[in-house]
Amino acid sequence: MIKKIKRVQKVLKAAALHSEEFRKASQMECPAGCSLCCLKKDIYASPLEFLPLAYHLHQTDKADAFYDELELRAENTICGIFTPLSLDGWGCTEYEYRGLICRLFGHSTTSDKMHQKRMVTCKTLKETPAYQELKPAQLLQAPPFQDYYMQLAAIDFQLANESLPINQAIKRAIELVSTYYSYRGTKKPA
Ligand code: SF4
Ligand code: SF4
Repeated sequence: MIKKIKRVQKVLKAAALHSEEFRKASQMECPAGCSLCCLKKDIYASPLEFLPLAYHLHQTDKADAFYDELELRAENTICGIFTPLSLDGWGCTEYEYRGLICRLFGHSTTSDKMHQKRMVTCKTLKETPAYQELKPAQLLQAPPFQDYYMQLAAIDFQLANESLPINQAIKRAIELVSTYYSYRGTKKPA
């Protein structure tokens, strides 16, 4: 399990770095404190991309409480990690452990049927001059959305391809990690 989590972490870090490099190069900047993408009610993610978060929650004895919180908000499909009260104004309370979708959305690309690159981004960024002036060559520098999900699939095909509403994906990740380490009777990885 810990090897799998570390491999996922590596993909998550690479995606964040790639996305950050593209953001800087393209100058497509999110307005300070904008968290509209976190407030979407229909974010889908895989349990695999939240294994590092689940492991972190487990190691800090917060997994059960957070799982119960997610159970209680079953009707509320906004990401349970989001808070409008964060000090930095962005709202993600577990930024270091955010999922792959969170790292790629806004500054990544997908390929259409004609193999043309298209940005996977939001209305706010599409309205920026930087977006409107993007050149095809620049799009090649952006993280390719599918490539990063394929890297996750290479780690665990089934868990990477389970597309669930984000809170369900997080719950499933917590269940997997908690069950694994409860069975082993230890919190510390061997
Ligand atoms: S990607 Fe778009 S919606 Fe999300 S924070 Fe940036 S500007 Fe806001
Ligand atoms: S994990 Fe963080 S970045 Fe991702 S949707 Fe939730 S609040 Fe937003």
